[in-house]
Amino acid sequence: MTSNPPLFNRVAFIGIGLIGSSLARAIRKYHLAEHISISTRRQETLDTAKALNLGDSYTKDPAEAVIDADLIVICTPMGAFEAVAKAIAPALKTGAIITDVGSVKSTAVKDILPHLPAGVHLVPGHPIAGTEHSGPEAGYADLFPGRWCILTPIEDHESDAVEKVKALWLACGAKVEIMTPDHHDRVLAITSHLPHLIAFTIVDTAAQLAEDTQKEVIQFSASGFRDFTRIAASDPVMWRDVFLSNKEAVLDILGRFRDDLDQLTTAIEDGDGALLEETFARTRAIRRSVIDEKQHIPDSKPPKKS
Ligand code: NAP
Repeated sequence: MTSNPPLFNRVAFIGIGLIGSSLARAIRKYHLAEHISISTRRQETLDTAKALNLGDSYTKDPAEAVIDADLIVICTPMGAFEAVAKAIAPALKTGAIITDVGSVKSTAVKDILPHLPAGVHLVPGHPIAGTEHSGPEAGYADLFPGRWCILTPIEDHESDAVEKVKALWLACGAKVEIMTPDHHDRVLAITSHLPHLIAFTIVDTAAQLAEDTQKEVIQFSASGFRDFTRIAASDPVMWRDVFLSNKEAVLDILGRFRDDLDQLTTAIEDGDGALLEETFARTRAIRRSVIDEKQHIPDSKPPKKS
């Protein structure tokens, strides 16, 4: 997983939270760039990134960060993508590659592409890896090995720009899959977005219960509820942006989920044990396939410095 000479001369990060700092750490670890420049919105985060030695140069100005960069990785919440694209566009060099790590790919195309000058390549990406923690201290270089990174290129899939972004993720230990932005958004609506929405709902419902009951919920949370609380602790701004960006696919899958929930509700009302058992046997088999694919180990680990 080492690269010699490095894949890129200069890589710029716009946003250096959990995902940006994990990728910056991996780029350092595997020596994939000569120079890493880092830009983030708040001075406090910039100071933390510097203290953690995540890059070689630091600035609050995104346009300054991208000067001479061969690769720019946008790692902010998706609600900031358009403003970031507008801010960096005039400073991009011809031939530069822009990628991102946003969780909804049609948004990356809609909000970034129209602002890019000719001669700059957009290769949207989404690493399917993460934890419920945020900020530069939460990242770690080994977040990506064994995880999928989905690229949704709009230009020729065989182009140099796509190949270079693919090589970056492979060098960080990820597995790479290529698909269209819309297909990505439909797949992620069921595998990630709906489960998060369910977790947010269950935990919020519990939180609204009478105080006595709420204490019991926390006290006896060792069973299924505990896993929901971990998912529901995910970053509120990021998840607000996911649901606003992937509205259509999420609403579609939510409709199908409601139908299935109604069916199980009716089975409980009618005492239809056979239907319940049949459904649970199917879902148990799916868990086995997830294990076979080695996608069952959670990414979540306590924030650590590396
Ligand atoms: P994070 O830890 O909260 O870091 C966000 C970064 O973006 C920080 O550097 C923050 O800067 C900056 N930022 C926040 N709001 C901004 C704004 N309005 N304008 C400019 N910069 C802003 O976030 P993250 O978890 O790394 O997520 C980043 C991206 O990765 C998101 O698009 C998300 O969809 C995607 N993603 C997340 C996960 C996950 O599990 N978390 C997994 C895959 C993909 P300051 O701290 O300086 O304000």
